[in-house]
Amino acid sequence: MATIASNIQQVHQRISRACALSQRPVRSVTLLVVTKTFGPDAVREAFAAGECRFGENYVQEGIDKIAALAELRADVEWHLIGPLQSNKTRVVAEQFDWVHSVDRLKIAQRLSEQRPAQLAPLQLCLQVNISGEASKSGLAPDEVAEVARQVAALPGVRLRGLMAIPEPAGDLEGQRAPHRALRELLEQLKAEGLALDTLSMGMSADLDAAVAEGATMVRVGSAIFGSRAVSDR
Ligand SMILES: *Cc1c(COP(=O)(O)O)cnc(C)c1O
Repeated sequence: MATIASNIQQVHQRISRACALSQRPVRSVTLLVVTKTFGPDAVREAFAAGECRFGENYVQEGIDKIAALAELRADVEWHLIGPLQSNKTRVVAEQFDWVHSVDRLKIAQRLSEQRPAQLAPLQLCLQVNISGEASKSGLAPDEVAEVARQVAALPGVRLRGLMAIPEPAGDLEGQRAPHRALRELLEQLKAEGLALDTLSMGMSADLDAAVAEGATMVRVGSAIFGSRAVSDR
């Protein structure tokens, strides 16, 4: 039976292979372990295997897990990767290290105001609806530049880059196209003078395509912990 530690090792092998194929240094890709729906013991197992960045989708579940794993708090980063409503920003500003799912200026403004002064700025990515799906959250690609400029000027947060959850595609080229579009959008923002370094893209099913297109952070859950009991997509 596969253990969490051996699954993590296999994910790192996939990342290494994808980096080698596109001649990228393996250190240019960071693994974010997505722990949503899995309990504190699963997180401890991933931590024992050497992982220290964990992603949660739901604010309350994340807050509860951060509290249950208080003994790890100084040694790990907690990333919010799921939808964030404005009435939940305060606990997120107080408890998390990163938010990948910022999809409007108002959320970033609230996070900036509510980030405690003694903490480092909250690290942010703007979520982009890169496949143009009506049901998906995220900024439309043509809205991103304006919001990025405004978010980059806020004091309590630091804009790091872009995040997307592309529509699933079966073949490699179909998977690569939306990831390529997100990379091109990031490159445009950098060319306009924004200091950005993060492309949060790639999940269990498509991380190879995402790395081939320049992902710097892949968000992987089911390839590590097995399938979740309840689908949330
Ligand atoms: C659940 C989730 C992931 C991880 O998905 P897997 O297919 O389990 O690897 C990554 N990103 C987001 C935003 C998610 O909600």
